[in-house]
Amino acid sequence: MDRKHYEDEHRAFGEAFRAFAEKQLVPNYPDWEKAGITPREIFVEAGRGGFLGMAVPEQYGGGGVVDFRFHQVLDEQIAAAGIGGAGLGISLHNDICLPYFLAYCSDEQKRRWLPGIVSGELITAIAMTEPGAGSDLAGMRTSAKLDGDAYVVNGAKTFITNGINADVVIVAVKTGSDPKNRRGGISLVVLERGMQGFERGRNLDKLGLHSQDTAELFFTDVRVPVANLLGEEGEGFSYLTAKLPQERMSIAISALGEATAAFTETLQYVHDRKAFGTSVASFQNTKFVLADIATELDVAQAYVDRAVDRLNDGDLSAADASKAKYFCTELQGRVIDRCLQLHGGYGYMSEYPISRRYADARITRIYGGTSEIMKSVISKSLGL
Ligand SMILES: Cc1cc2nc3c(=O)[nH]c(=O)nc-3n(C[C@H](O)[C@H](O)[C@H](O)COP(=O)(O)OP(=O)(O)OC[C@H]3O[C@@H](n4cnc5c(N)ncnc54)[C@H](O)[C@@H]3O)c2cc1C
Repeated sequence: MDRKHYEDEHRAFGEAFRAFAEKQLVPNYPDWEKAGITPREIFVEAGRGGFLGMAVPEQYGGGGVVDFRFHQVLDEQIAAAGIGGAGLGISLHNDICLPYFLAYCSDEQKRRWLPGIVSGELITAIAMTEPGAGSDLAGMRTSAKLDGDAYVVNGAKTFITNGINADVVIVAVKTGSDPKNRRGGISLVVLERGMQGFERGRNLDKLGLHSQDTAELFFTDVRVPVANLLGEEGEGFSYLTAKLPQERMSIAISALGEATAAFTETLQYVHDRKAFGTSVASFQNTKFVLADIATELDVAQAYVDRAVDRLNDGDLSAADASKAKYFCTELQGRVIDRCLQLHGGYGYMSEYPISRRYADARITRIYGGTSEIMKSVISKSLGL
């Protein structure tokens, strides 16, 4: 179905990013996949192109446009270009980390961090997950004890996207505890590159998304100035709850974009590939599989576009964002698996994009909240 979701300015922005990606990202992507990381300079180049901090007010150097469709079109272009590993760092920076800086920074903090976030000189990350606490965020143990004008932070985080490249990391910490409320006493503090006692662990070896640096972070008596507290002490859990729907929409959009790109590539492949003296496209099974996929993609797209509109209106519920993330990431897994099958043995070869999409896809049902956690959020909205 035709989409009427975008205006000319969104399409032009998407085209500009596509040109940037084709010139600067796609040719180097295989090297970054081998290296296990995307070079920091890419953020600066993306910043120069106007692809970072679209929602940041102009006074801090940003685009001054609060419209998630600009994020959506960029995420879709990343998926279409087949550069999900490098693209994830950019999406995380724009879609997931920046909203915390915009919503909870004081004016002084905005002056300190926003210009660098827009230019790409300050790469962002968000660290919630710990070795002993992922889905159960309230079980986190990283502590921050007030000592004069600083919090003394001790603990560890793991699986942190942009973990090696990041200069400013939003870290969820326990500044207190409330025996009656497990979610109480959580705060968000910003740790900066170079703070004493802030160490990075390994760049973790993963099944997919190889060009994305995912790391462990360790904190030993890190003195974090009180001036680096985001918002109010003890409000961290409510801030995370407020911003997770946007994170989940970002993942849903990328997942749907990946599935759509896999479908488009497969449509071409089955025309080109011959078996039994005819094209693979001519078999009834191929037609039915691709008809199934086309239907599911169109229906999912309509829901996602509507959810993005609701996000823009400021009234997207946590349950509706969870439905988008749950449905689109499961769909991504199903679609890419079926598309790989239609590629036969070539689909298993690394030189074919479908094999990389297959490996990259597996994580989206886990990070940003697993499918099981999405179903918990949805069932809560049903009063269950
Ligand atoms: C590549 C990658 C990038 C990531 N990036 C980041 C990042 O930038 N920042 C960050 O903070 N984290 C990040 N994560 C962490 C990610 O969000 C967590 O892995 C995820 O939330 C799941 O937590 P866990 O791994 O501890 O699994 P667990 O919580 O141990 O879950 C294990 C299994 O139990 C199930 N389960 C748990 N609780 C329930 C329940 N109540 N009901 C039913 N089933 C349940 C889960 O669904 C899952 O199947 C990343 C992870 C990866 C792998």
